[in-house]
Amino acid sequence: MIQLCERCFAPVDPATERVYRLSHIDHADAAGEVRWREAVVHVAACVPAGTGAPVERRAA
Ligand SMILES: [Zn+2]
Repeated sequence: MIQLCERCFAPVDPATERVYRLSHIDHADAAGEVRWREAVVHVAACVPAGTGAPVERRAA
């Protein structure tokens, strides 16, 4: 399964990249059972998705 960084949305290889593992509550039922979702985010600074400058398009 390919994991994506939760900040920059780039693919992450946990074997070669340093990442923080995060757990988020997906949902909880009336009995108190909690379902968790696991996520990763790069330890090193990465640019949040959607905040980079748009790529300039040039006529060919
Ligand atoms: Zn990242």
